[in-house]
Amino acid sequence: MVSALALTGRVRRALASEAISVEKLRLTDEQWQARLTPEQYAVLRYSETEYAGTSELNNEYREGTYVCAGCDLPLFKSDWKYDSRTGWPSYWDAIHEHLTTRKMIYAFRAPVEYRCARCDGHHGHIFDDGPQPTGLRYCSNGAALRFIPS
Ligand SMILES: [Zn+2]
Repeated sequence: MVSALALTGRVRRALASEAISVEKLRLTDEQWQARLTPEQYAVLRYSETEYAGTSELNNEYREGTYVCAGCDLPLFKSDWKYDSRTGWPSYWDAIHEHLTTRKMIYAFRAPVEYRCARCDGHHGHIFDDGPQPTGLRYCSNGAALRFIPS
C-alpha cells in the first residue's frame, strides 16, 4: 500500500514531461450524442464507469494503437497493455502529451483522473500498482477507446 502522497509524486514524475499542445475538439451536447454510442457518451461525457469485464478490449492483445473513441487521438500503444485482472483494459504507460490529468479530492487514497487532451473526454484513473518500468496502471474504460490494429 502506497500513500496518496507517494502516488501523487510518482504520477507527477511520470507526467513531468507533459506538454499539452493538442488542438481542442469542442462539440455541443447534441453533437456528442449523435457521434457516440450511449455507453461511449456516458463514459466520455459524464465520467460514468462501465461494468468490469464488459469491454471486448479486455481480450485484445494484437499489435496496434488505442485511440480516443470520441476524437481518434492516439492514447495507448499495445506494447503497454497488460492483464491487470481488474476487468478493465489496463496500460502501464500512455502517450502523455495526449492526456490531461486531475487529482480527485473526494477520496482518501485519491486517484488521478485522466482525460483526452483533445476532446476532454473522461477515460479512467491512474493507480500506482502497475508493473515496471513505470509502476503505474492506467485503468481505462474500454468504451472510451477504439483499437486500431497495426
Ligand atoms: Zn478524445
